[in-house]
Amino acid sequence: MVLCSIGLVSGLSYFELSKTTEENASFRIDRAARAAVAILSEGTNHAFRPQFGASQNPVSLHIATASGQNPLVPGEKLDELVKTIGQANQGAANLFSWTEQTSSFDRFATTFATPDGAPAKVFSIREGHPAYASLAAGQPFTGEVPVQERLRLAYLMPILAENNKLAGALAVDVGWVDDLNFAENRLKTRIASAAIVILTGAILMGGLFLRFELRPLRQLARTADELAAGTQPREIPFTDRLDEIGDLAHGLTRVTDLQDKLQKLAYTDPVTTAGNRARYFSDLNNALKRSKDGKFRASLIHLDFNGFSKINDTFGHQVGNRVLLQAYARLANIFGPSAQIARISADDFCILLPFDAQGAIAEDYAIQAIEMLSVPFNMEEGEIRVEPSIGIALLPQDAQDAETAHRVAGLALRAAKESTGARHIFFSTPLNERVQTEMLVETLLRAALKTEQLELHYQPQICPSDDRLIGLEALARWPNDKRGYIPPGEFIPIAEKTGLILELGQYVLERACRQAAEWRQAGFEFGQVSVNVSPLQFRQPSFAATVRHMLNTYRLPARMLCLELTENVFVDTGEQMVLDILSELQKIGVQLSLDDFGSGYSSLIYLHRLPFQELKIDRAFLADADKDLQKEHLFHAIVGLGRSLGLRVIAEGAETAGEYALTAAHLCDGMQGYFCSPAVAAKDVRQRIEDFQKSRTARSAQMEKKRA
Ligand code: C2E
Ligand code: MG
Ligand code: MG
Repeated sequence: MVLCSIGLVSGLSYFELSKTTEENASFRIDRAARAAVAILSEGTNHAFRPQFGASQNPVSLHIATASGQNPLVPGEKLDELVKTIGQANQGAANLFSWTEQTSSFDRFATTFATPDGAPAKVFSIREGHPAYASLAAGQPFTGEVPVQERLRLAYLMPILAENNKLAGALAVDVGWVDDLNFAENRLKTRIASAAIVILTGAILMGGLFLRFELRPLRQLARTADELAAGTQPREIPFTDRLDEIGDLAHGLTRVTDLQDKLQKLAYTDPVTTAGNRARYFSDLNNALKRSKDGKFRASLIHLDFNGFSKINDTFGHQVGNRVLLQAYARLANIFGPSAQIARISADDFCILLPFDAQGAIAEDYAIQAIEMLSVPFNMEEGEIRVEPSIGIALLPQDAQDAETAHRVAGLALRAAKESTGARHIFFSTPLNERVQTEMLVETLLRAALKTEQLELHYQPQICPSDDRLIGLEALARWPNDKRGYIPPGEFIPIAEKTGLILELGQYVLERACRQAAEWRQAGFEFGQVSVNVSPLQFRQPSFAATVRHMLNTYRLPARMLCLELTENVFVDTGEQMVLDILSELQKIGVQLSLDDFGSGYSSLIYLHRLPFQELKIDRAFLADADKDLQKEHLFHAIVGLGRSLGLRVIAEGAETAGEYALTAAHLCDGMQGYFCSPAVAAKDVRQRIEDFQKSRTARSAQMEKKRA
């Protein structure tokens, strides 16, 4: 459009210009022709009569014959005329090579440009030349004459004799063609320049206009890109516009709304509406990224409830979820909106506290959280109590990446859970060192299990009234080149923490069953072989099947296997679940023993409902009970409790003859202790028992003496 306009304007201007140039040339020709005619008429006493064209310009000359005389006949007059013209009209002289010497024009010998445009040649205007044809027809001729490599414009007027016969021509030099074209050329250049300027301006203006008009579209495209890349734009622009851009902006707003909803769903824990695991790790990563500048600090709190699964087991998941929801509400209330709270698994809450340089805020909040969460939850089902523990890590001091941060906060939490005093613990270097040692032990233990380095030793259980062997407890032993045997107290807790206890438990169960089967084959009457079962192992859904499989593999009667469980099985497992598992094991026919009774978590309330056959009284009750009447009474009461529940009672840890005698006096079904024998290798068991039994007479004598 713009180009067309420019073209049109240029065309009109050029047309106008050409017209002006042509008019200019005609004007000059006319003026020159009139001057020439006047000079000629004057010089010849008006012997030539000009004839004028339609626009009153002289087009031809007629030799006047009014006087009846041919004015050109007197030769002198013509010569004079020619001389006059030559002298007066330098243009004509130049054109037609007039010289003073010859004082004549070579009248028709001229250098007119050839009509076909070929280089000019000197030739006469004779028949065949367009100038001649024109002149002979009584018409003027305008043409260009090359002079000194330039062109001059010449106007030829025929001089006609009687009968209009061509007698000669009056050549009028109009001027340089260049000069005539100069104005035109200059105007042409100006128009071209103006066109270029206008065009450039138009392009620039157009560019600017397009840029301005497309800016909203580009901005919306960028917003769409951000959306596609998963970054949430701050706001969608141009929603206030009422045109198509506004429609597009509204469309994008709907997309962001949808994305918002999806994002919320993807990052929200459906139970509590706190952040979920994905949100937590994303926040953690962002916090650690920010902390790289050295200014940003944060603390990470990992909180969980000891034995929460018991709530689920006892009251069901619905109630468990409601407790979690209320717990989250309390946490949100304590920590406020600046904290990022997420529930990352069952009862694990992780809280990121920004701008907490030394963990002072975290500690303050942790104390509050423990206090607030320890207040019972009032549910329809009754009051429910939870016991929170907290681990705290400082970022970035304790960890530079999310995985480590989560791990170290978890370590601190575990330390808090294991601690008897502290409910919240900060991650620290010694804690880390302890964990490192544990990790090393774990690695070595794993290797030891693989290469079957772990040994089983057996400790006899003796009936104190007649020294009869009633059972053997299998106890794991880890031989070490430097330390002899590493005691299970060092590696069992680590195996339990790391889950390696499952492998270890399987190993011990298998070995003990194999050994029992061998003894049975050999006709050794050992009563039962007792195997310690850790809570984690006990909770395995496949545990009962494994036990059954072992018994089948070694063809061992179920009653010959006793599984010892500590009261710790109740810590993380609800009563009903414990009951279900125990019932399943009972169906197999194995013996079930409650180990270390009275040493920790008390299961007294539901002891009568659990299908145990045996109660092992913790060593603490027997130690020195023969010397302390109060203790003896306590020991007696516990033995009585077991017996009243119909359980076989085994006293643990009789180290002296006195303690041994006490177990007999209080009618324990069995005892196990160093007094009789420590745990020994399978091959030494028989000898040990025989030795002990042999010593009976001597012991009796000694006792008699003591009594006397
Ligand atoms: P536990 O099941 O109560 O085993 C009895 C522990 O008391 C054994 O320690 C035994 O050596 C020790 N003991 C026996 N008689 C006496 C005594 O007269 N005086 C004293 N002071 N101690 C006595 P041990 O072998 O060091 O085992 C410690 C604990 O390690 C066990 O306690 C048991 O809970 C655990 N454990 C050992 N082997 C295994 C295993 O194979 N699996 C599992 N899950 N735990 C095991
Ligand atoms: Mg035991
Ligand atoms: Mg025990």
